Amino acid sequence: MTTVIERDQLFVGGRWRNPASGERIEVRSPHDQRQVASVPLAVEADADAAVGAARAALDGGDWAATTGKDRAEVIRRVSAGLQARAEELAGLVTDEMGSPAKFSLFGQAIAPAMVLDGYAELAERFPFEERRAGLVGPVLIQKVPVGVAVGIVPWNVPIFLACMKLGAALAAGTPIILKPPPEAPVSSFLLAEVLLDAGLPAGAVSILPGGADLGRYLVAHPGVDKVSFTGSSAAGRTIGATCGQLVRRCTLELGGKSAGIILDDADLATVVPQLLDSGLQNNGQVCAAQSRILAPAVRYNEIVDALADHVRGLVVGDPRDPATDVGPVVSGRQRDRVEGYLADGMASGARLLVGGGRPAGLDAGFYVEPTLFADVENTSRIAREEIFGPVVTVIRYRDTDEAVAIANDSDYGLSGSVWTADTDRGVAVASRIRTGTCAVNSVAVVEPRSPFGGFKQSGIGREMGPEGVEAYLETRTVVLPFG
Ligand code: NAD
Repeated sequence: MTTVIERDQLFVGGRWRNPASGERIEVRSPHDQRQVASVPLAVEADADAAVGAARAALDGGDWAATTGKDRAEVIRRVSAGLQARAEELAGLVTDEMGSPAKFSLFGQAIAPAMVLDGYAELAERFPFEERRAGLVGPVLIQKVPVGVAVGIVPWNVPIFLACMKLGAALAAGTPIILKPPPEAPVSSFLLAEVLLDAGLPAGAVSILPGGADLGRYLVAHPGVDKVSFTGSSAAGRTIGATCGQLVRRCTLELGGKSAGIILDDADLATVVPQLLDSGLQNNGQVCAAQSRILAPAVRYNEIVDALADHVRGLVVGDPRDPATDVGPVVSGRQRDRVEGYLADGMASGARLLVGGGRPAGLDAGFYVEPTLFADVENTSRIAREEIFGPVVTVIRYRDTDEAVAIANDSDYGLSGSVWTADTDRGVAVASRIRTGTCAVNSVAVVEPRSPFGGFKQSGIGREMGPEGVEAYLETRTVVLPFG
């Protein structure tokens, strides 16, 4: 019997406050549907209070008076706080959304701290003011906070994605209101405790767990200047449309259908486990997952056999078990979605190599077997749409030009990878892929200190790196007297 976590207050304007309503979010484990937590649901009045506190911080509060160096120290304290509580944090995320313990400690707790450390370094050396020569005389180029920001976070890697937004906003000196999703709100309360311990000035950060209604309210709120959204393309389009209507700054990170290209000289013993780890990690619920594997015709059967052997050996089960490779998907709704794609794949003529159903003995949870389809046509739905579950497709190609063409024949353009014995060849191929990130012989398909974001339907804008900080800044030119 594990205890149910109860939270009674919300983190509004950097302080714990009683919620405006008595509505609650009941969180259940996707493994066995036991109750994990009960937390307050934030409502519009909480959002108004958070926006008010953020505006006060912007218009002359302590936060407005800080330098990049000051903010770097705050970010480092937040990072240290997350690292000190990494196991607890990882356990919360595993319980709330089913991420396997094997992935959680690094992906859900340590990696967010690494992202913050990157932002701390940037805050210290970012050129917030620069003197340049204009046409008629000298000018000062100033980078100032964009205003009040809202960060809308999905459930798959909730703290990592929150920190991609939080770290950039803190570095820029931009107050931010984070909205964690109702599927995974529990870990955000620990993040709030860490923020409080880090000594953040009032108003700089609020955390308001809630659903799409609250998200919509915040996106259109008259006191908000910038929206950073990660999630589905459908929600992203609506949010982008609202922001366009309001001429509101907007960053969209909308997922992908990334290709892992195995070149004909690759060493399969090292490639196969890494590539499948990327395709199936977090139960296949990663926006940058390498969910299309492109295999050369000359080694096709050998590659397909090696991939199938590896998937057959994966351990499926309780995400809290350190031996588990693949746990449940987040919800019944998500499992229905994934199963729809499985049926579609089978009807498309693709060859089902492993999986395709529900694993035996795990009926209480939202489990889908890790599934591998071979002989997939790049025109089929399972090759084109983001499944967001443990499903990987294998597509055959004849030569490198065709591999590049297939990888690029996608509505998405988020990430990708190239696997080869020859790094130069890998870089040459990676440089032809129309995605925001492409890794060579590496599983770092999201690089925690480098700009991350999408070409095409994968989104607009970048997070992390200097480009990520820029997204939370406005540029002002002060023209100085000449002569
Ligand atoms: P979603 O896009 O509906 O929700 C993501 C976040 O946005 C949540 O916090 C949600 O409350 C909020 N939201 C939803 N609609 C909104 C709106 N109109 N305005 C403001 N906020 C809104 O994602 P989901 O329903 O949780 O998952 C559906 C699909 O989205 C998944 O199957 C997957 O394909 C995709 N997804 C992608 C990512 C990613 O990292 N790119 C993450 C999660 C989900």
